[in-house]
Amino acid sequence: MVEREEAELRPGTIAIDGPAASGKTTVGELLARRLGYLFLDTGVMYRAVTWAALRDDVDVRDQDRVTELAHELEIRIADSTQDDGRQYTVLVDGVDVTWHIRSPAVDTDVSIVAAYPGVRRALVPMQRRTADEEPVVMVGRDIGTVVLPNADLKIFLDATVEERARRRWQEMRDRGKEEVDYPTVLDSMRRRDRIDKSRDVSPLRPAWDAVAIDTTGLTVDEVVDEAHRLVEERSCL
Ligand code: C5P
Repeated sequence: MVEREEAELRPGTIAIDGPAASGKTTVGELLARRLGYLFLDTGVMYRAVTWAALRDDVDVRDQDRVTELAHELEIRIADSTQDDGRQYTVLVDGVDVTWHIRSPAVDTDVSIVAAYPGVRRALVPMQRRTADEEPVVMVGRDIGTVVLPNADLKIFLDATVEERARRRWQEMRDRGKEEVDYPTVLDSMRRRDRIDKSRDVSPLRPAWDAVAIDTTGLTVDEVVDEAHRLVEERSCL
């Protein structure tokens, strides 16, 4: 009973935003696990639409077709089904695309797809419904500003672009993608940052009431501890 009351006094919706490879997904997932909350990585949804466009030979610059596709697709994020380093399994129309959506081709096009207002109109309601159902840690670019403007706690993670590109490059090498070189990853990340920050709809920026954490030089555990401390600080215990 006491435990239940304490849980109810904790922030129930936690929004984490930040640029690519700022640590959102790793930190968000670990924080959600510590708190016993659901974790939703919204980037996965934009990646899934991009993957489907490439699969169907739809030109990603064809806004109408891509928007139509975003409304038609069935995207499901389920518990991990395989022991291959994944945090969850992503299904598009029943097909496991967990690793396909991390390909360099998807990296290149996802920011174009995510800038279409119609694509966002298809995906944002699904994200909001998830937060209505249970306590959640949701990560993305516009969670604190647009998707959950009333979130109980908003965190904005950042790090230098060089450090973020190094992390992403290392992740790819760990997955056996030896052919990917660092300058290419750095270029792709700079380009994605530029598009995400300058688009008209839901640009990447910290909410006015977000707490900023610079993760450059910090370990994952240090960032999770800091995020957890912020949760405790906001809890009325
Ligand atoms: O977080 P991740 O790098 O997987 O996101 C992929 C892309 O999806 C981002 O570069 C951005 O263009 C888009 N995105 C977005 N809004 C979100 C999450 C991701 O526009 N809430």
